[in-house]
This record gives sequence, C-alpha cells and structure tokens, in this order.
Amino acid sequence: MASKSQPGESKSAAWRYAGVVAACFAMAFGLAQLGGRLNNYAYDVMTARSQAAWAPQSVVVGIDEKTFEKFGGPEARRLILAQALEDLRAAQPKLVALDVILHDPSLHAEEDQRLEDALRATPNLVMPCDLLPNETWEDPLPRFAPGDPRRIGHVEWATDRLDNVTRQIPLEQIAQHQRRWALSLVALSVATGQPIVTESDSSNIYVGGLTIPVPRDVQGRPLRIRYLRGVIPVISVLDIASKRDSIRGKVVFLGETAQTAARDRLQNPYGDYLSGVEAHAQAFETLAHGDFLTDARDYSVFLASLGIAVAAGLIFGFFAGWPAYVLDAVLLAFASYLPVFLFHRGIVFAYTPPVAVAWLCSIGAAAYQALFVRRQLERTESERSRYQKAIHWAAHEMRTPLTAIQGSSEIMSRYKLPEEKGKELSEMINSESKRLARIIQTFLDVERLAEGEMELKREPFEAAEIVESCLKRVRPLAERKQIRMTLESEVEGTLLGDRELMEYAFYNLLTNAVKYSPAQTRVRVFADSHGEELRLSVKDQGMGMDSKELKSIFKKFYRTKRAEASGEVGTGIGLSIVEQIVTHHGGRIEVASEPGKGSCFTIVMRAHASA
Ligand code: ADP
Repeated sequence: MASKSQPGESKSAAWRYAGVVAACFAMAFGLAQLGGRLNNYAYDVMTARSQAAWAPQSVVVGIDEKTFEKFGGPEARRLILAQALEDLRAAQPKLVALDVILHDPSLHAEEDQRLEDALRATPNLVMPCDLLPNETWEDPLPRFAPGDPRRIGHVEWATDRLDNVTRQIPLEQIAQHQRRWALSLVALSVATGQPIVTESDSSNIYVGGLTIPVPRDVQGRPLRIRYLRGVIPVISVLDIASKRDSIRGKVVFLGETAQTAARDRLQNPYGDYLSGVEAHAQAFETLAHGDFLTDARDYSVFLASLGIAVAAGLIFGFFAGWPAYVLDAVLLAFASYLPVFLFHRGIVFAYTPPVAVAWLCSIGAAAYQALFVRRQLERTESERSRYQKAIHWAAHEMRTPLTAIQGSSEIMSRYKLPEEKGKELSEMINSESKRLARIIQTFLDVERLAEGEMELKREPFEAAEIVESCLKRVRPLAERKQIRMTLESEVEGTLLGDRELMEYAFYNLLTNAVKYSPAQTRVRVFADSHGEELRLSVKDQGMGMDSKELKSIFKKFYRTKRAEASGEVGTGIGLSIVEQIVTHHGGRIEVASEPGKGSCFTIVMRAHASA
C-alpha cells in the first residue's frame, strides 16, 4: 500500500486487500451475468453504428398492401405468387427464394395449377418449410416442392426471449431425424452452386470456400445477423416489370411485406419491425459477405474480467491520490471500449462483465485504500503520542533519584562532612542510582512487554519479600504526609515470575495509595491465601473513584479529574503497566472504590506454599 508499514502487517493487509478485490470481482461478475438486457442493448447500439462496406447481392420482392389491394386481399395469395413468379422470369434473377409456406391446397384448383406451373418454370427455386410446435416439418405440397429436397430451407428464428428482438438465425434445425438448413443458407448454396458441408463435431459450416463459424454446442447453430438499414432494395410485386434491371442476376427473396398480412414480423436491433422475408435477405447478405460475428468464449470473458479486476487492485495497491485515479480512469475506459473494439473485429463480447467488474473493483479497491491509509495514519499518530508520553513518564520517574544523587554529591563535594554523614550520603547515592537503573530497566521491559517481544523471567520468589521491600521504600513518602502504613496480615506463598516487575507493580499500588490520600489517614496492606490463590490488597482512605472512572484507570495516560485537581504529579501510565505485568504473570487485578471514602486495589496471583 501507499503508506509505510511493518513487513508482516503489510503482508496480511495485502491479503485482506486481495480479498476485497476478489469479493468485488465475484460480485460484479455474478451480477453481470444477470445483465442480459444490458448486453443486448450494448450490442444493438454497436450494430446500429456499423456501416455496410459492400453492395447487396439480394433483392426483396414484397407482396405489399398495394398488391393485396389490387388482387383483392390475402385470399388471392397464390394468384399473386403465380403472377410474381411469371413476372420475375422475365427479369432473370439468379435465384428465387420463396418465403410463403405452401403446405395446403387452396380452394381453387386452377389457382394451384397456375402456381405449380409458375414454380416449375422458375429456374433456381428455393422453397421454405416450417417447424411445427409438435417438432414436425411442415413441407410444401409435393406438387409445389422442388425436385431436389436440398432446395428446401427452414424459416425459423432465434428470437431473444428477454426482449423479443431477433438477432440470430438458427442455421441448422433437426426434427424427425431430418436436418434442414436455413432458407438463407440454402439460397447461398444454390447461388454459388456449392454444397453445404459440415461434420457433426465441427463448429464450422462450409459452403465452397466460405467458412461459417457457428457454435455446434448451442442448439440450432445460431448465426448473428448483421442487420444493415436500407441497404437491401425492397420492390413491390407490382413493380417487377418496371424494375427488371434491379432484379437481374440478383438473389430474390419473395414473400409478404404487407404490414397487415405478414405472418411473421420481427423486431431487429434498430427497433424496426421487419417482415420475415426481409430478415432472410439480411441473413443471406451476412452469409454471402462472410461478415460474421462470433460470440467470445465464456472463459475469455471470465479471464478478461479477472485481468481487469487484478489491474484495478494493482492500481490502488501501488498508487495513491491522483495517479491512481488517472490510471483507474484509463482502466475504466479500456473496459468500456473493449467490447466495442472486439465488435468491430467480429467478436461479440458481453458488455456488462468487464464494465461491472472494472467499476466495482475500482470502487472497492479505492474505498479499501482510503480506509486503510486513514487507519494507518491514525495508528502512527497514536503510536507517536504513546512514545511521547512514555518518554515523558520515564523522564518524570527519573527526576527524583537524579535530584537525590545530584544533591547528595554536591553536598559531599562542597562540605567536609563527618564520616557517618558521608557514608549515609554515599549509600543514598548508591541506592538511588540503583533505583535509576531499575526505572530504566522497567521502562525498557514494559515497552518490550507491550510489543509482545519480551519473555518473562520465571524464577520463584517469596511474596513477602516484595511486600516488605516496597513498604520500606514507600514508608518515608507516607511519613511525610503522616499516613500510617501497616501490614495487617502475614504474607505467605511463593510466586513464580519476574521479581523486579512484580515489585514494581506492588510499589505502584502503594505509592498511589499514599499519593491519592489526604494526610493523617491509613494505608493498610492485607494478604490472603486461598488454596493456590494469593490476594494482596492495598486499602486506603483517600479520594476514591466513581464507577465511570474505574473503567478507565487502566488505560494508558488516563487520570481522574480528582487526581489532576489534587496537585499530585502523575502521568497516568503506572496502572496500565501494573495491569500488564500482572496479567502477563497469569494473575488479575481488582479494584473497589468509593469517592471520598477510599479505594482497595487487589492483585490476585497463583502462589505455592512457601518452602
Ligand atoms: P498516575 O498516578 O501517574 O496518575 P496511574 O496509572 O498510577 O497514574 O493511575 C491512574 C489514575 O488512577 C490516577 O491518575 C488516579 O486518577 C487514579 N488512581 C490510581 N490509584 C488511585 C487511588 N489509590 N485512589 C484514587 N485514585 C487512584
């Protein structure tokens, strides 16, 4: 991360950070799978923006409203078809693909006869068949059907159930063990004079030199249609004679375009409604120009999204501030542009996964960074103030022995003292420098204890020893305030641990009792053994504390208002050290106190019977 931290800490932080990014990735990727409509929308926008770079090879000849009007309505459908085919013959198209199912005989035999004749007289004819809901083929009547069954193509669509837009056409449909290719594909095969070739395990369909990439694992081998607006001419049946030049040599798709009568109307990605016959022509153009769109594999979408998530993680892992935001903006732009870039290269890449992953992972990583950095700053800040206070404490504690040493040595050098007095002063210097050394040692030990770096000494010592030594050291202090200090019971038991530290702890309780008690009161020490438990209590008749204050006294640097007001110097660190020492020894500390009445601090330790 951007700020300085301990090696171990940064390692676990890095794992936590990676976890945040991974969770964001999983969430975004999961959500993106639900983004079907959004993906469709993005696809449609990209489709609408693409342009045709080729001239059409097909023409739609439509039975439109005008035609129906002239012939007397949809009942005259067969007559119209016969007429259209007869007219088309003179225009010499390359082939005629019919999009009108001729499954039933009509009521007028002569009409059917005329249509049959017209069909037979049409060279290169492709006829449609329909797949019924009961999975059977609805083929043209045998009298209308082309001699070669390979010239029959199905007219099914793969309409998206989410939004009813038809983006794909299933090239292959199998029913009753019979495979039928799509009308547009059959038209291509007839137009090029090449057979349609495939193998059951191949993802490609071949027509001559053309390779059509269609997934074999998806039912129907769907092909995405490259819809292009206004590129394929639509000519009314009534205008065939006058537009022969536009029809000559072209692949004609003949069917109903009338809004009212068209059996199948499809919505395309532009939002336009197209007649089926126009959509077949669009599919044919897609095939004829080899202008295919293939879907990106699921695993490549997954890997690309994963890559984006990792990039977002790395950006906020290694950069902070505006460089991170600038890089992230580049990443977001990349993720949004990737599907567009691939679309123009014929690959349909789901839009939502990379975009959702990029956004969510960026937000997650940035938020984590903001939180982490702030926490780190707060920690450094509190560490700094802790050290300041600790140093302050050490300096304060050392002042008393230093003053004693300084004073005594000054007296000794300045005056010629009687031997006895000199001895007394040098003993004092000796004991005070030892105390100084002890304070320094304690300070260092406590710091190491707080860092969890110190192993406690484990040596046996008599509890009575430390109690006596502390009482001896504190007595002069107590006497100055005319406080009577008494040991109320015999101390028994051997403790196991660090004698210096335990002595420091008990000494602290005693000095506090003296410090926070008014003159002419009593401080009593009790010892109580229960089996393996030794309780050492210091009871005073001092200012006491209320329950709210009691909750905080073991916090570092906390002092009660009463203590501050009393004028007694202190740093508020002593009790926190006492508590640490006692708990590190496997013991605990208890306090009972009442404002104005006094306090009782009890150290509870495991002890063995004295030897
Ligand atoms: P210090 O004595 O340097 O302020 P301590 O950590 O030893 O620091 O004590 C923390 C606070 O707990 C004291 O400032 C005082 O407010 C309160 N305290 C400790 N012992 C007593 C006591 N015996 N009676 C009343 N208050 C006490």
